Amino acid sequence: MMISRRTLLVSASAAAIVPALPKIALPAPITAVEAVKPATTIWVGGHNGEFDWQPINAETRQEAMRELIASWEGIPDGEVTEEDLARHDLCLERADSMDGLQVDEIKPYDWVNAGLGACCDRCGGECFAPDGARAINGQAICEECLTIPDLLDSDQYDQELAKERLTEWLMNHDCDEASVRKQMSRDFDPDLIPVDLWQKCLADARAEL
Ligand SMILES: [Zn+2]
Repeated sequence: MMISRRTLLVSASAAAIVPALPKIALPAPITAVEAVKPATTIWVGGHNGEFDWQPINAETRQEAMRELIASWEGIPDGEVTEEDLARHDLCLERADSMDGLQVDEIKPYDWVNAGLGACCDRCGGECFAPDGARAINGQAICEECLTIPDLLDSDQYDQELAKERLTEWLMNHDCDEASVRKQMSRDFDPDLIPVDLWQKCLADARAEL
C-alpha cells in the first residue's frame, strides 16, 4: 500500500485530535459554573464583644442590618435604623476581604484575615487578629499555637519574628541544640526550620551569650 504525504498528514492530525478532545470538553462546564457564581458583598455582625458574629451577603447596609436583626430578634417591621442595632447591642461592619466568597464557605482563616476573631483551627480557642492570631496557609492560628515554621510561612515581619524566637530559644538553652530540638518536637518538627536559618540564629545566640 502506498502512503501518500496527504494520507499521512490526515491520519496524523486525526490521531492528534482524538486524545485532545476530552481536554477541550472538560473545562467548559467548570467555567460555566464559575460564571454563574454570584458576586457577594460581605458584612459581618453580631453582639458587641461576643463570639457570635456571622457573615451576611447584602448589597446595602440597610439590607444587612435587616438580616442581622432578623436572625436574632425576628423579622423587623419596616425600615431598620442604626438605633435598632444599638438597642439590641448588635454591631455590623463591612468585610471587604471576604467579598466574592459565599457565606457558607467563609472559614476561621477568612475572619482572622479580615482582622477579626475566630476559633483557632488547632486548639479551638477563641482568638482575635489584633491579639496576635494569624491567617496562614488557609488556617486561623492563635498566638499560643503559632510555631516557628508557621511564622516562616507568613509575611516578612513574621519571618523576622521567627528568627528572634529561635535565637532566644537557643540562648535560653545555652545553645544546646539537642535540648532545643527535643523541646520543639513536642509542638512541631524541628526539621521544618531551614538549616541555614538555624545556623544563623545559632551564631547570633552564641554571640549574645
Ligand atoms: Zn490555638
